[in-house]
This record gives sequence, structure tokens and C-alpha cells, in this order.
Amino acid sequence: MKILFKNGNIIDTEQGGTVLRGTDLLVHNGKIEAVGKISEAADRIIDLNGAYILPGLINAHVHLFGSGKPAKALSGGAMQKFLMLLLKTPFGAKIMDKIIAGNALAQLKSGVTTIRAVGDFCYSDIRVRDKIKAGRLIGPRMLVSGPAITVTGGHGDGTFAMTSEDIPTLVSFVEKNAKAGVDLIKICVTGGVMDAKEAGHPGELKMNLQQTKAVCDRAHELGLRVASHTESEEGLEVALQGGVDTVEHGAAINTEMLNIYKKNRASMIVTFSPCVPLAFLPPEITKLDSKATVNTKIVGKGMIDGACMALESGIAVGCGTDASCPLCTQYNTWRELVYLSHFCGLSPAQAICTATLGNAQILGIDSITGSVAAGKDADILIVRNNPTKDLSALRDPLYVLANGNLLEQPKQNRLSKVEQWLDSIQLDKADFTV
Ligand SMILES: [Zn+2]
Repeated sequence: MKILFKNGNIIDTEQGGTVLRGTDLLVHNGKIEAVGKISEAADRIIDLNGAYILPGLINAHVHLFGSGKPAKALSGGAMQKFLMLLLKTPFGAKIMDKIIAGNALAQLKSGVTTIRAVGDFCYSDIRVRDKIKAGRLIGPRMLVSGPAITVTGGHGDGTFAMTSEDIPTLVSFVEKNAKAGVDLIKICVTGGVMDAKEAGHPGELKMNLQQTKAVCDRAHELGLRVASHTESEEGLEVALQGGVDTVEHGAAINTEMLNIYKKNRASMIVTFSPCVPLAFLPPEITKLDSKATVNTKIVGKGMIDGACMALESGIAVGCGTDASCPLCTQYNTWRELVYLSHFCGLSPAQAICTATLGNAQILGIDSITGSVAAGKDADILIVRNNPTKDLSALRDPLYVLANGNLLEQPKQNRLSKVEQWLDSIQLDKADFTV
């Protein structure tokens, strides 16, 4: 199937997001065949009438088990225990596969053509990835980690992580995931916001340097990169010294850490999407106590400081939404770009480049995606208005192309209450200082 898109404006992410006006795009069997003035015959010709063509977005940090609706089911207690037992049954796995596939499709409909899933349940992520690859489901390209790895009491213990203190067991988890067919290894070097014991100390260190290094070394031997949940400076030190490839969420960077980032060619993946609503919406909505709100702000501040320092120093910064967290839906990647642009001083064009070619480079897939260029996969997002002027233009895609499928004005199943809350946040008044 050859599709010719006429009269588009292409956002060239290889040139910092410059707009190439009046350009055509020819797509053939899921690949970009040509970009420019094209008069070739095609099975279908679509006149874009000045709409904007950009590479599909890459959401470099998602979980697919949740909708983003604040829920109590996975916050410990009997309900969580019951759900985890249910998931271990064939029936439970079937339900989970359905949820994961539905959320992956929601990501695609919102213009995200690649996701990196960093912690889901019972290898559902692998099964769904393979079905999409084989053309049995419609969805984005998926890079998946399978269950995360951490120590007892670490982030994800009791839900999406496998835990042990013992180094040989931690290493065996890496081997188990590799055998199952993961694309990367996810570890949780620090705790998070919700599991912090006191106000003022989020991202408590959980994995020590020996444990982290052993896991990273084995993963690298098996050809797998390591992503680490890292939400404090002490955690950053262990993560980088242990050899992780991507620091997820992030923290402020000192000179020594800066040097290790550079030496290891490590990158930082920011996720403002949970921080912003959890820090700035009222507690009646977030359901956070004052301790968790303070800790959210501290993590947000560390993320901003770390990202600004990284950007200044030439360390790669990517972005993801942490979808499934409370108030982090499966269709709001455009908001992450707005936050990134606002808090790190990037232009909309730079934010778009970060979420496309930038993320592709960090994930090692820039030879196949991340820009609208002949020879690459046709991972395409088309929107009516110019997103380099206003990122909210990304909110309602006209077309999304991925894996040879064309979605036309895909309908988003949005959670209207959550949308109202997110829309009500005034970023110019948002201050993470505590
Ligand atoms: Zn996460």
C-alpha cells in the first residue's frame, strides 16, 4: 500500500525542528520512501492542506498497567495482594494482556509510535509487544523491560518488581528477564515519593553499589541496557557508579556525577507528568498527605536541576510520562513536552526534537525512527496546527502511522475529570521550592 501525503509542512527533527513548508511524503509498506516534491502514483493520495508532519513521538518511560485515574488498588493492602495473586493465574494474565494492549493502543492514538515500558506485570509487556510486531494487534513499537528488579522494600516491591538482597539472585533475575526476551533491564536503585518514610527525604537509597554493579555488569554482558529508577542524589551516585545507562526521573548533578555521566555515556530521562499534578493540584484530588506532597516537590526540583545541568553540559536528556502513575494517563505525552519546555527552558521545537530523535538516540533506535527521512520506518504523526508554535497542537492527531497502519483522526478516550484537573494547573505559578 503506497500512500502519498501532499502539501504538508514537515518538522525536520534532524535540523532542530525547522519547518519544511509545502513538502510531500510518500510511504510504502510501513517505510518512508520519499520526502520532497513527489508526483509518483500511489494507492491513496491525501491532501494535507498545510497540516504538520512530524515523526511519531517516543514515550521513553511508561507503565501500561494503569489508566492514570487515581486508584487505591495498588497502594498496598489486601486488595493489592488479591490482584497480584489473580495475575498469576492464566485468567488474570489474559485480563492483564488486554489492559496492556488497550493502553498501548491509547498511546498510539495519541501520536506516540514508540514506547519504552519499564515495569509491568508477569511479562504481559513482552506478549503484547510480540503480537504488535507480528501484526496481530495494532499498537506502537514497544521496548519492554518485563518486571523491574530491586531489593526487598524497594520501589515496585509487591507489584511490578522482583526482589532480593542476595547478589546471585539479583543476577539470576537479569538472566530470567533476558531469557524471556526483554529489550532492557529496569532496576530501582532508590525508592519513590509514596514509599519515603519521612518528609524531605524522597528517593531513599535501596540498592547498594555492589548489587547495582552486579546487575548492570550481567545485563551488559547479555547486551542489554539498564534503566534505573533514581530519585535522589545519593541514588544517582550509586546508579552511575554501578553503570546504569539511563537515569529515570533524575536528581541534581554534582561535578563528579557529571563526569561519570559523560564517561559512561549515560543519559537522563525526565518524567514531569507525575510531578506536576501531584505537586500542584489540591490534596483532595491527589490524595497525598503533606509528607508526600513535599517529597514530590523535592523530586521535581531535583529533576529540573539535573535536567538543566545535563542540557548545559551536553548530557543527553530524554523524556517520558510515567503513564499509570496517579494522574498520568496513556494519552498525554504532549503535556510532558509542555512541562519539559516550561521547566527546562526549551523551545517547543526543541521539546519535539527531544521526544523524537533525542529519545530515539538514547534508546539506540535512531537509525529506524525519530525523523521523517527516506529509509526510516513510517512512524508518523500529522496534526492540523504548527506544534513548534504551540505544543497543544499535538493534542488531537489528524493521522498516526505506525507499523504499516494508518489511523485517521483516532478517537481518544480521555478521562474528562482528569483532563479538567490537568488543564487547571497554572504552570507560570508552579514552584517546586519547599
Ligand atoms: Zn516509572
